[in-house]
Amino acid sequence: MDQRAPIVIKIGTSSLISAGRIDQSRMVELSDTLAALHAAGHRIVLVASGAIALGNARLRSGAESDPVRRQLAAALGQNALFDALRRTLESAALTAAQFLLTPVDLTDDAHRDSVRGALQLALDEGVIPLVNENDAVMVRNNDVLAALLGTVLNAQRVVILTDVPGLHDSNPHSNDDARLIPVISEMSAEIERLAGVSVSAAGTGGMLSKLCAAWISSLSGVEVVIASASEPNAVVRAVNGDSVGTLVRPRERNKQQDIGRLWRAFSTPPAGQLMCDSGAEQVVRQEGSLLGRHVVNVEGEIRPGDIANVLLPDGRLVARGRSRLGFSSSRSAISTDTSVLQKCDYVSFLED
Ligand code: GLU
Repeated sequence: MDQRAPIVIKIGTSSLISAGRIDQSRMVELSDTLAALHAAGHRIVLVASGAIALGNARLRSGAESDPVRRQLAAALGQNALFDALRRTLESAALTAAQFLLTPVDLTDDAHRDSVRGALQLALDEGVIPLVNENDAVMVRNNDVLAALLGTVLNAQRVVILTDVPGLHDSNPHSNDDARLIPVISEMSAEIERLAGVSVSAAGTGGMLSKLCAAWISSLSGVEVVIASASEPNAVVRAVNGDSVGTLVRPRERNKQQDIGRLWRAFSTPPAGQLMCDSGAEQVVRQEGSLLGRHVVNVEGEIRPGDIANVLLPDGRLVARGRSRLGFSSSRSAISTDTSVLQKCDYVSFLED
């Protein structure tokens, strides 16, 4: 049995679909690349987006941002997306098997074991698992799904292909002088601030969602490469460890992170900041629940279930997680013993 760690490749809608139709030449390019990697002995999992864009083209009415319409669009488009990919891969002598997953399938223990077993068998059989989110159930984000998969499969690396060459120090769409950042040695709040101004407008993810994926991977010890789908040989270079796009190195951690906790802390970019008193540091260090009385002020609009940063009075970002409560920035002192971040719902950035 082949035990080599797989490579998870995620390709976005803008790289496979144009004007609501399959871009056949991009698909052929992709399948040629996968065939070359497969022939070289790599085990590949492909996460491909595009179902919603294909389905949208078949719907008559409604706002494209409406979540229920997106579910239906995905249900309409997924078949066409998989069929086109399957046929193209088949002409390159590759066999694909479709897996439609939600984050719960990768974070719930029983689902995860079951999914991992099926994916591993597919890889052992030389089959390429073709993954998309099960968007008919709930639309989330394939960048994050790819990162969760990389963690579950203990992947060698996750390669995220998008419509920009990687992370820049300013917006490459509007600033010709924007410079690519080739290596991020450690994920940090600083890096995210940079991504906030270099966000890509196309696709559902944008650069911030790629950085959510980068946090999950880097905290699980998996390398991520963010590169342009149109860069020649981007995937092969990323897989071979040659310089392409932005490489995010894994963080050295003493402790294995719980995948459910990673998902709850990084499923979306943070909606706001909980400005806390200095007592919050001890709470986070001891991995306790953060109570309302530690929250002195709030920046941004945080709804229940949104992701929030925990900052200390000196500005240090010490944790990120899913807030149980909603806060409006107009509210200043919150003095309550109610738990804001449950202990299992956040990730600490303090050194182990
Ligand atoms: N899974 C969605 C699709 O196939 C897109 C979500 C994403 O791009 O992250 O259309």
